[in-house]
Amino acid sequence: VLRLESVRKTYGRGTVVLRDVDLAVPPHTVTTLIGASGSGKSTLLRCANLLEEIDDGAIFLDGAEITDPRADVDAVRRRIGVVFQAYNLFPHMTVLDNITLAPRRVHGVPRAEAEERARELLERLGLGGRAGEYPDRLSGGQQQRVAIVRALAGRPRLLLLDEITAALDPGLVGEVLGVVRELKEEGMTMVIATHEMGFAREVADQVCFLDGGVVVERGTPERVFGDPQQDRTRQFLRRII
Ligand code: ATP
Ligand code: MG
Repeated sequence: VLRLESVRKTYGRGTVVLRDVDLAVPPHTVTTLIGASGSGKSTLLRCANLLEEIDDGAIFLDGAEITDPRADVDAVRRRIGVVFQAYNLFPHMTVLDNITLAPRRVHGVPRAEAEERARELLERLGLGGRAGEYPDRLSGGQQQRVAIVRALAGRPRLLLLDEITAALDPGLVGEVLGVVRELKEEGMTMVIATHEMGFAREVADQVCFLDGGVVVERGTPERVFGDPQQDRTRQFLRRII
């Protein structure tokens, strides 16, 4: 679904944040990105969603190069759902309006259709009946589930999740991770940046360890966590687990 080829990203003058990153995300698989703070996980996800311009290399979505200057950025974003650490819901809008805003305004979906889809997703994620509420009436975990519904509303090909539990109280982490597990069961293709190592191992088909913007190691969770081949991976895991 998603492929990065020799992607290079620098900020300002010469701070290299991603160095020759290669990554292939096959359909219906989950890739988790692990690595220390500042290793480039969020940058990788932002590049994949065209929120950042890359300096070199190429990114492909379903075989088509999206980093081609002629690519339709809106069309690409429509096929990629994103959820970030801070849920970024609009506080002055109801849950339903938060979810249907983009489909209606940006993608021209008729209101009735957008709302039907939104209600169906809310139901599935255990939020049926909350459509008319404002975000501040919901718990952090519920707000994050609304953000996931919003990302799913446009029927994306791919979901990018960046530290979606980092801002949550420990007690609320489980419900959000549970939703991700269910999406995996349904075959959703996802790339997930996370500091939750247990989760990164459990949910992944592929684990990618980044260090200083370099993909140091990549493989099945059994291999990367159970039998890491690189010293840097071993050191990272020793520190964190
Ligand atoms: P964390 O685990 O803390 O979320 P991360 O792996 O997501 O870290 P990134 O946010 O991708 O790391 O940051 C990678 C590097 O890029 C860091 O050194 C950071 O300081 C730098 N960086 C990120 N965004 C910008 C920006 N807008 N301008 C300049 N430098 C940036
Ligand atoms: Mg980050």
